Order: sequence, then C-alpha cells, then structure tokens
Amino acid sequence: MKETIERLARREARQLGRYNSGLSDDAVRQRFAVKDIARLASNENPLGMSPLADAALWAEVTRTACYPDPASLQLRAVIAARTGMTPEPVVMGNGSENLLEMLCLAFLNPGDRVVTLLPSFGLHHLYPNMLGAEVTLVPVNVQMEYDLDAWAQALAQPAKMVVFSNPSNPVGCMLGREGFERLIAMTPPDCVLVIDEAYYEYCAAHPDYPYSLCVLRQQARPWIVLRTFSKAYGLAGLRVGYGLACHAEMVELLDRVRTPFNINRMAQAAAQAALLDVAHVARSVTHVTQQRAWLRDQLLAMGWGVAPSQTNFLFVNVAQDSAALAERLLHFGVIVKPWLEAGYTQWLRISVGSEAANQQCIAALRQCAQ
Ligand SMILES: *Cc1c(COP(=O)(O)O)cnc(C)c1O
Repeated sequence: MKETIERLARREARQLGRYNSGLSDDAVRQRFAVKDIARLASNENPLGMSPLADAALWAEVTRTACYPDPASLQLRAVIAARTGMTPEPVVMGNGSENLLEMLCLAFLNPGDRVVTLLPSFGLHHLYPNMLGAEVTLVPVNVQMEYDLDAWAQALAQPAKMVVFSNPSNPVGCMLGREGFERLIAMTPPDCVLVIDEAYYEYCAAHPDYPYSLCVLRQQARPWIVLRTFSKAYGLAGLRVGYGLACHAEMVELLDRVRTPFNINRMAQAAAQAALLDVAHVARSVTHVTQQRAWLRDQLLAMGWGVAPSQTNFLFVNVAQDSAALAERLLHFGVIVKPWLEAGYTQWLRISVGSEAANQQCIAALRQCAQ
C-alpha cells in the first residue's frame, strides 16, 4: 500500500519536509507521567483570550447549524477601521498559515524562485516547496540580526516571491525602519512581497519598528502584510489570521484559491470582540516584556547566547544538541522547540509563558543542561 501511495503522489508532496509542530500536553503527560506542563513551544498567550472574545464566542455557539459568512464582512470592517484601510483589500485566513498557503497557490509555478529568511518559519519554505518552487534561504548574521548584504546578493537575481517575518520567528530580531526600507528597495519590482507580522503587537510601540503599510503604500508592486490573532490576542485555537493587501484585486485572486468558509462562526465573532479589547492586548504585551527580561537574564546567567528578541519568545544557543536537550526537558513537563534547520541545531526556541511556567522551565534547564 505504501508503495502505491508513494507512486501516485505528486513528486512535490512526496519530497516535502514535515512541519515541526511539537507534542501536545496530553501526549507529554502520558509519556512522562508529569502533572504540570510548561507549554513553551508555540508562542501562545499565557493570559489566554480576552473575556470579551470569550463571551462573543459562546454567544455564537447557538448558531452553529448555519454556515458562517464566507466573506467575513463584519470582521474585515473592524480590521479595516483599526488599520486605516477599507475592507476590500483585507483578506481572512484560517490562521495566517492559510494565507501563506493561498498566496503560494495563487502565485507560484514549479521552478519559481522564492526568497526567505534562515532560520525560517517552516511554512515560508514548505508551502513554496509544495508547489515545486525553488527556495533561497538568506541567513541572519552572527549577531542574529537581518543581514542586508546577504539579502542584496540574494535579490540580485529575479524572484517571484519574497517572504519574511518581521520581527523574525524563530530568532525574535526586528528589522528597523531604515533596514526595512532598504530591503524593500532592493526587492525586484516584479515580485510578490509578503511581510509576515505575526508578532506585530509586541513591537508596535517600538520607536524603530517600521510602519510597513505606510512604506508599502508608496510602492507600485504587489504586496501583502500578514497578521494573526494567534499570538498576542490568544486565539491560536480558533485559527484566525488576516492579510492587508496592496489592492482589492489581490484579495479577489486569493478568494479564488481559498476554501469558501475558511473562518468559522465562533472565530469570526471572537476575533471581532478581541480586536476591541485593547486593554487585554496591552496587558499581554506588558506581561511578555517583563517575563522575557527575567527569562533572558536567567539564560544568560547559565552562560548561553540569547538572540535579541522583540517577540514573545527567546532563541537560545544552548551549545549542545538542542533536540536532545528538549527531549530531556519533557521529563520535567517542559515543552520547548528545538530548532532542526542545518546550522541552528544548537538553538532552542522558548516561548515566554506564565510566571510559573517560565520558572518551571528554568528549574528544569538547570537540572538537565549539564
Ligand atoms: C505563529 C506564526 C504564524 C502562524 O500563525 P497562525 O495565524 O496561527 O497560522 C505565521 N507566521 C509566523 C512568523 C508565525 O510565527
């Protein structure tokens, strides 16, 4: 059977790498007989969702028998109002991962060139690979910051799509205003520019964080900025992301490749309410900023390298095989993400969690890092 399936499969699917999505709490509880789990592998919000989102979600549950609005009109109107756009160039995804998939389906032919960052968010290369595109990975420099010279070299050749996260996942570094403008200027005009701002809320107040929409609006080229409700808004389980595009025509194209009802009712209602709870996001960001500083100090005191981070996670050079260390941490109920990309296998990505989870993580690291 395995042979038949392999033979029938598309070549691109057969050769595709796996997304490293990690273990569930229950799996770890069962396998290692631990009670308290420190979930620090997926960059979730330890404060959970806004109480307003919680209420909106439950109010919507009674309408589960009816299909959701396929155009997510109300939600797009609220997002548009918040971002100073009209609703037409706003597009919704079942998580922003769904938007990455839609962009690849809409734009990439086999052999097209995609340029992205290394280390990278897995889906920035997996979806292009799924469609047979060739991916060029541009490494960060030794300071673990965006390397603009390396980008200039990579962008000297034609590309169909340029996609990167700012701030970066998994590194956490941020490309500042000047660097952002330089990078945009060196991108060939005849390509699709995808700026993944999954951690936007954590650096929106940073004085050097580029106001990407403002910069991109001056560009006569196709672009889209991706954001998500999964991180600072604490709605990862509901799967809602959105794209702010250069033009309504981009959304019309993406609409043709997307599943019609990609945002369920509860998700549409909760996301809309979550957007209005500005105080909850502010609390979440403050929590992360404080706990990140504590976690960083602890990790530095253990003699490890910690990349600069403007996000809700830290990328740590543990000077040993990070997958083996992550495995040992599971025995203490601590789930973190070892990086598996070549060149970064000594790096661990640790999410900033609740105070208790962060302490559990540091205590476990002290026990099993020797
Ligand atoms: C978490 C993350 C996403 C995916 O977010 P979803 O909206 O949950 O799909 C996309 N891009 C980056 C860089 C992320 O870190």
